[in-house]
Amino acid sequence: LFISFEGIDGSGKSTQCRRLAAALEAKGHEVVLTREPGGSAGAEEIRALVLQGDPDRWSAETEILLFTAARRDHLERTILPALAAGKVVVCDRFADSTRMYQGLSRGDLRGTVDQLHSLMIGREPDLTVLIDMDPEEGLSRALSRQGVEERFESFGADLQKQMRAGFLSLAEEFADRFRIIDGARDMDAVAADVLATAEAALAE
Ligand code: C5P
Repeated sequence: LFISFEGIDGSGKSTQCRRLAAALEAKGHEVVLTREPGGSAGAEEIRALVLQGDPDRWSAETEILLFTAARRDHLERTILPALAAGKVVVCDRFADSTRMYQGLSRGDLRGTVDQLHSLMIGREPDLTVLIDMDPEEGLSRALSRQGVEERFESFGADLQKQMRAGFLSLAEEFADRFRIIDGARDMDAVAADVLATAEAALAE
């Protein structure tokens, strides 16, 4: 089973990914916990190229190509081999993040993202957990975190609002695989919901 997590910066999705992976392992599943951009050696190198340094280094189109290249490597080297071995893949962000961030935040490039996706990736998660959160709260959580990769997180409240609305409409567009979880509760309650959602998908 291939599970992705999506949500705005600061929504707590990375924490929830780790908790889900640990909970599934405790129940006897073999789990590969991975992330995007990154998740394979080559894709992590591309992550550094895109997320560190001058934010204007790449055009919007080049950035889509870099994210797609990273995803292709991640898929080939990490995700598909794990799925073939019967493991559960828990991935912090996948193509839906590119549909949102590269597809919407620097002009309307969603069509380009989708074309490249069908050409080079052609695979969606079986389950996508959207950790939904009020942008003001997500932003204050994101900004309170220390890190070197603050480039996108400096976009601010308006972008976060646009991203939240975008993720909610993606959840309608791909209603078969999206499940929306209210992330504005305490972490244990969110984790319990996430685990129940994953177990339902595993039982299908
Ligand atoms: O999920 P994570 O916090 O590791 O993402 C790092 C940063 O990269 C985030 O600020 C996110 O907004 C940004 N990002 C992006 N486009 C993607 C994936 C992540 O702009 N496709």
